[in-house]
Amino acid sequence: MRLTKFTDLALRAVMRLAVPEQTGPSTTREVAEAMAVPYAHMAKAITRLQHLGVLEARRGRGGGLELTGLGRRASVGWLVRELEGEEEVVACEGDPPCPLRGACRLRRALRDAQEAFYATLDPLTVADLVASPTGPVLAGLVGRRPE
Ligand code: SF4
Repeated sequence: MRLTKFTDLALRAVMRLAVPEQTGPSTTREVAEAMAVPYAHMAKAITRLQHLGVLEARRGRGGGLELTGLGRRASVGWLVRELEGEEEVVACEGDPPCPLRGACRLRRALRDAQEAFYATLDPLTVADLVASPTGPVLAGLVGRRPE
């Protein structure tokens, strides 16, 4: 099982924003730079997280990105399911579609395995992800520019 790059970027953003900020709320550019990803890619991930209610952007002086209460309490399993969407681990409905797709035991087994993968992440919260040792490392990335 492999997550999409988009999901990974979104999770990086959430972890970065889950660490208390010393210098005020972060901007999308600061998050992108701290997590060493292109700005445009991070901007798309941030927009999706806002639509999910995980992040909010406060405008004006002192504004910036912040995790919402939902974002802090969110189950990582829920978040990954939302970000990955309905994608299966095998493209049974591809072009051309697989002739077994309507009656395939392998497809069912893979769906069960995918659900088991997500279920493993269900008990974890975003706050859990930034406990030590990850949180201190994230805090040290503040303001860092990509190499
Ligand atoms: S064999 Fe089964 S799992 Fe593989 S592509 Fe075809 S329907 Fe999907």
